[in-house]
This record gives sequence, structure tokens and C-alpha cells, in this order.
Amino acid sequence: MSDKLSKVKEILGEVFDLNRAAAVLGWDQQVNMPPGGAEARGQQLATLGKIAQEKFISDEVGSLLEDLKKEFSDTETDEGAMIRVAARNYDKARRVPPEFIAEQALAATKAIEAWVEAKGKSDFSIFRPHLEKNLELIKKYVSFFPPAAHPYDVLLDDYEPGLPTAEVREIFDNLRPKQVALIKAIGGAKQIKSDFLQKPLNEKKIWDFSERVIAEFGYDFKRGRQDKAPHPFETTFSVNDVRITNRYEKSEPLATLFSAMHECGHALYELGGNPAYERTPLAGGASLAVHESQSRMWENLVGRSLPFWQHFYPDLKKTFPSQLDGVNVKSFYKAINKVKPSFIRVNADEATYNLHIMLRLEIEIGMVEGSIEVKDLPEIWNAKMRDYLGITPPDDAQGVLQDIHWSYGAIGYFSTYALGNIISAQLWEKINREIKNLEEQIRKGQFAELREWLRVNLHQYGHKYDPRDLVRRVTGQDIDPAAYVRYLTKKYTDVYGL
Ligand code: MG
Repeated sequence: MSDKLSKVKEILGEVFDLNRAAAVLGWDQQVNMPPGGAEARGQQLATLGKIAQEKFISDEVGSLLEDLKKEFSDTETDEGAMIRVAARNYDKARRVPPEFIAEQALAATKAIEAWVEAKGKSDFSIFRPHLEKNLELIKKYVSFFPPAAHPYDVLLDDYEPGLPTAEVREIFDNLRPKQVALIKAIGGAKQIKSDFLQKPLNEKKIWDFSERVIAEFGYDFKRGRQDKAPHPFETTFSVNDVRITNRYEKSEPLATLFSAMHECGHALYELGGNPAYERTPLAGGASLAVHESQSRMWENLVGRSLPFWQHFYPDLKKTFPSQLDGVNVKSFYKAINKVKPSFIRVNADEATYNLHIMLRLEIEIGMVEGSIEVKDLPEIWNAKMRDYLGITPPDDAQGVLQDIHWSYGAIGYFSTYALGNIISAQLWEKINREIKNLEEQIRKGQFAELREWLRVNLHQYGHKYDPRDLVRRVTGQDIDPAAYVRYLTKKYTDVYGL
């Protein structure tokens, strides 16, 4: 190995360690920390972040990467790919002044507080000045980068490297009318009985059931664990320590199970990474959308399928006999796939979910390009909800104020959720062409071949390829909603007898 390569790997490895140590602190903050620890934890995370940043954006790293780009210009090799990704991250990080990052963090802290109050009182005016400030800072952030075809490109690129806004819009414009038509058809069909899903479940029993399921998926509890936290998430400390969190909600007792499958999908991606990429910028997933394709695949394409429940339903019914009394597997399957336009994105079903995302994408693009003003947001939000889903939020808490993202200044990543759905269906068609009896395997509770296919074809590549290139390599196609439309149509034809 060249001296320069080992030097840069050493520095990048230390930056990686600092970031992973920060992740442990972040996990602890959500899982274990008493409220009194909050202030000190904030300082500790800020200090670690600052040291990692300073280490990374040093002139030394810059000149090493400059030389290494010439030496390892073949980005098909792991070294070449690592230098390419590191150099891109470096260029981005150098453009954003540390004072700006501090200013943005401070604004976000205040805005989150205001958002909590605004949401509680369902009063947008409390949040409005903070969102205006966040938006001003977002526009300033965009100004640090060379002009792009659309200013939103700069923001999207942080989550989906190499994917321009115009392409995402084209994908969504193609998908939207088909999804709206499907929801209309479902609205006209005989409605499904699902009240039994609201019956409370014993928390420990549904928690244990969720762990039995993800253990069958292949989540290795010697390399991971599931803990209780206010919101489900996955976090990675190393390729051999990938954790998930979960919760129990009285209003939606089965969410514990579906969240476990979702986060397990993220975790399997991380656990399937190439160990040789540890402590380099190639560790982790290709992008948020590709990551979400994995969580959605295990949660929905596997976990809400009939074959899956033909295997697991007897166990579920044995665990909760009174709740599921008189409910057969087909009725249960239909109930967990019920479609109903609703106000809250995170509770949306598969048929309506993407419309929530499209609404947010259009609003974000409008805010960034200046065609939408913050003061008009509640009205615009409600009008779009009527257009897309045919319902009007009764108040701002169930409308424009529902998501936390804009309060911490995150603009640019909602679309990755919908893109994840789209990619999951493309992968699924490819997998079903290659594993002919996959449905039969799932019906027997066998997931090893599926998991291994994903590891070999997707997971092991980590960050080596950009999302568009990766999807093309694996499926032979560009990111395209056709497979997702086929999947939804087939599923709801079955569920609703369309
Ligand atoms: Mg997710």
C-alpha cells in the first residue's frame, strides 16, 4: 500500500471512530439517559463532532486526497472508490464554514422547542419565524456550492448523491396519477374489517414475538440488540454491532412488530457490509433511499405478505388468542393491508404513503426556490391534502406541523422515503426472477436465501456506488416506479378484489 494511502486511511479511520463514538452517545441519549444528562450530552456530542470535523477538513487530508485521486483513478477498485467518496465528502465539508454549522445548530435547537410548543397548541404562528430562519440558513447553505440546475439539487445530493431534483420529479409525476387512481378504485370497493387490530396486546408478548420474527429474518443478536426508545431507529457502531430500537403504542399495538421488521431491514443492510470497508467512508449504505428500500422490503414486501402470515399467523394467534378470536389468516392479512387516506404520514398505509411524500417534496422545492412563502404553508398544505388524498386536516398539528424535520433544518430528504419504496419493488422483481420459489420459502419461514441474495448483490457494496449506479447494476434499470405500481396493483387487487 502506498504511504499516502495508509496515511489517509489512518486519519479517516480516526474520524470514523469519533463519529461512531458519537453514535453510541446518541443511542444512549435515546435509550438510557436520564433527563438530567441532556445538557452535558449536548456538549459532548458537539465536542466530538468538532474534533472529527477538524481532523477531516485539514489541509493535509486535502493534499493527500488530491494526490491519491491521480494514483487511484479507477473507481471500480475499492481504493479508487474510497478516494472518490472521501474526496467528495471532503469538498462538501470544506465549503461549509464551521461558524455556519454552529449558527444552524443553534437555530435548530430553538426551532425544535418552538415546534414542540406550536404542535402542542396547533398554532403555526409560533413556529413560523423559526422556520423562516431555518429556510434562510438553508438558502445560505446552498450558496456555498457551485450553482446547480436547481438549488434543491444541492440539498438532495447530501442524501442521494448524484440524483438530480428533475429526475425525482419525473419519477413522482409518473407515479402520482397511478397511485391516485388506485386509491380511488379502493375507495369504491367493499371496506375491510380491521377493528381487532386495535385491541391492546401484552407489551412483553408482542415485543418477544417481534424478536422471534427478526431472529428468523437473520438479525443476529450476538451482533445486535433491540432496546426501548421513544422512536424506532437503527444505529451502527461497527459491522458487528448494529442496534435497533422499538416502542409499544397503545393506539397501534402491532406497530411494535412492523417497526421491528422495518428497523431489522436497515440493520441487515449494515450487518451485510464488507468487513474490509470498516473505518473507511465505504462502510454503511449507498444512500438513504437504498437503505429505506431494505427496511421497506422486510416490513412490507415480506412482512405484510400472505405467505409470511401463512407461516407466522398460527404463532401470533396462539400468543394472542382472545384478540384474534374468529379471525382467520386471510382476514388478518387484509386488515393489516387496509387502505385509508389519513392525515399523519408515519401512520399511512402503503397505497397512500408516497402521496404524503410528494406533497412535502413539492412544498420543499417551492420554499427553496422562493415560489412558496412560509406564511402560506398551512393553506398550501391543506389544499394539497385535498388534491392528493381527498381529506382536509382539522388543524395544523395534524397538518403542516406534524413532522419534526423542518424544525431541525432538514430539508431535502423526505423524497428518499418514497424512492425507497420504489427501489424495493424493483429489487423484489429481480429477486423473484432469480429465486424462483421465494414465495414458497417465505411460506415455510425460510429467509436465508433472500438475505444472502441481498448481501451478495447489494449489502456488501456499502457506499462504493452511488444510488443510481447501484440500482442500475443490480436490476439493470434506472430508478423507475413501474415495478412499484405493479406490486401495489397486484396486492390491492387481491386484498380488495378490485
Ligand atoms: Mg427507515
